[in-house]
Amino acid sequence: MQYEFTNGRILHLVQGDITQVPVDAISNAANAALRGGGGVDGAIHRAGGEAIMAELDVIRAEQGGCPTGSAVATTAGRLPATYVFHAVGPIYSGAKRDAEMLASCYRRCLELADERQVKRISFPSISTGVYGYPLDEAAPIAVGTVADWLANRETSVEEAIFVLFDRRTLEAYERALKARVRN
Ligand code: ADP
Repeated sequence: MQYEFTNGRILHLVQGDITQVPVDAISNAANAALRGGGGVDGAIHRAGGEAIMAELDVIRAEQGGCPTGSAVATTAGRLPATYVFHAVGPIYSGAKRDAEMLASCYRRCLELADERQVKRISFPSISTGVYGYPLDEAAPIAVGTVADWLANRETSVEEAIFVLFDRRTLEAYERALKARVRN
């Protein structure tokens, strides 16, 4: 499914493996320690190679990691991209702050994109795997935050692509996008 905003920018929802989709910047669902994890983070490090972790080692030494709700940029190693934005989503707790932190990590990736004049950026479904965020709560936040940015901001981003690993996740994001464009 895709949606074109009146300003010509496009939001895509596709099912697939985010490491296989060529873009300028791939967003990753990382952890606050910036140490390798499983899920999409493991896939990104496996496909991108050791250069990415070497850069994260430097960032970790300088900054101690990355706070929840934020993101840090590295190059993309062997991935079909120029950058990886390592976003730290919230571990779901049921608190109101979870939603703010989830929206904030998507926005921080979009800011990193603008700083680098990125035109095409991809996102996984941040926090809905090991971090336990209920899919039907996370999808409207993810879609809404990225859609707001594309619709309303001065931004270098022309295309944002959610690359969703399984059918259930794709369908939740499709419901969220349909609900969003009805309003
Ligand atoms: P988190 O810890 O933020 O919950 P996970 O990596 O556990 O991150 O899960 C986030 C989402 O990424 C889940 O929907 C998971 O199915 C998905 N995922 C796993 N591998 C990939 C991949 N290669 N490409 C895209 N999405 C993936």
